[in-house]
Amino acid sequence: MPGDFDYALVGGGLQNGLIALAVRAHQPDARIAIIERAPALAGNHTWCFHDSDLPPAMAAWLAPAITARWIGHDVAFPGHRRALAGGYACVAAEDLATAVTAALDQPGSALRTRTSAETIAADHVVVRNPDNTTETIRASAVIAARGPDAAALDAATGWQKFLGQEVRTTGPHGLVRPMLMDATVPQVDGFRFVYVLPLAPDRLLIEDTYFSDSAHLDAAHLRGEIGRYALAHGWPIAEVLREETGVLPLPWRMPDDLPAAAAPLVAGYAGGWFHPVTGYSFPIAARVAAHVAARPAADLHGADRGALDDLARQQRKQLGFALRLNWMLFRWFPPDQRYHVLERFYRLPEATIRRFYALELTAFDRARILIGRPPRGMSWRAALALGEAR
Ligand SMILES: Cc1cc2nc3c(=O)[nH]c(=O)nc-3n(C[C@H](O)[C@H](O)[C@H](O)COP(=O)(O)OP(=O)(O)OC[C@H]3O[C@@H](n4cnc5c(N)ncnc54)[C@H](O)[C@@H]3O)c2cc1C
Repeated sequence: MPGDFDYALVGGGLQNGLIALAVRAHQPDARIAIIERAPALAGNHTWCFHDSDLPPAMAAWLAPAITARWIGHDVAFPGHRRALAGGYACVAAEDLATAVTAALDQPGSALRTRTSAETIAADHVVVRNPDNTTETIRASAVIAARGPDAAALDAATGWQKFLGQEVRTTGPHGLVRPMLMDATVPQVDGFRFVYVLPLAPDRLLIEDTYFSDSAHLDAAHLRGEIGRYALAHGWPIAEVLREETGVLPLPWRMPDDLPAAAAPLVAGYAGGWFHPVTGYSFPIAARVAAHVAARPAADLHGADRGALDDLARQQRKQLGFALRLNWMLFRWFPPDQRYHVLERFYRLPEATIRRFYALELTAFDRARILIGRPPRGMSWRAALALGEAR
């Protein structure tokens, strides 16, 4: 017996937003429900990705949600600066929310905000409505993507924490390409870098970011750092337009069976569909979305289940290597020396760097990343004491 919907998507953030857009593009008549506990979709994020992260077929249906796009980007370390050719793009939460709302505005689909999922099963979700009543929503495929949660991942982890401010500068700032990592700043509280996106001639997103041992985020201090950084670069701030923060687990150990293809599908960051070293989840979220959209809802765990198993297996394999890199980064290098690892990484061929971000590393790439003189700053004592085991 068919359910109320083809897809019940629990959590209206990045992962399920991309799934909704992909499904609408490939299955125009699909009945999609999004269940989101917040008053609005997508939260408060600026999500970015490299052009090379996306399956080519996705570019078309993602286009309406793209907020800004650049050709090339830069990185800077104390001993190495580099201009990379790869394109970079960002999706602001409000643009994703607008595109997803339009995709759901069709008979048979539903956007349920202020509604919290209490029980999530393979073919139904029990929700608590804004008026405190409960209700069962049935669907052929249930996909839960409820966001980053170290406890849900059962992870041994470091943290990527950051505060970003979108600012209007007093005059044109002159920056034309994103600065993905400016690690020439003082290295305190872990690997630290400033991330800068030129959103308009007088508008920047400036994020102060730390790969830290602690999840504590001192927002007031980071605001001060952003102000000082902007001033030092000749970009006096006229106005802070908005602010976003993140504290993301960067684990070196997770359960071996994550991500899994079992129903209900646990997708997004909480399901292990993310990059443990960068904290990015856009690339793999896009691939999961393309995968879900390519088959009818009933086949996701049914007739075509092998394809989902394959996707989960590929991600587990990539995760294994990335978790090992985090182990080395967080356990073998003192916090103020971690930047050496990234500085060395950014001397690799650009194609390897692209595949690293996309979590599509080949065996040759993996060897390239590990082989050779270890980066400076490594604590041999820590490495020998901790051994190879995770
Ligand atoms: C500020 C910020 C910026 C980031 N920038 C990037 C970036 O540039 N590139 C990148 O690749 N990654 C980025 N990330 C990392 C990662 O991509 C994001 O965390 C991403 O939002 C994860 O997607 P998700 O769908 O798993 O979770 P989310 O986008 O967090 O969505 C989860 C949703 O589920 C809802 N929810 C939770 N529980 C329930 C429930 N019981 N019932 C109903 N709804 C529920 C939440 O309210 C939320 O809306 C960023 C993270 C943050 C915090």
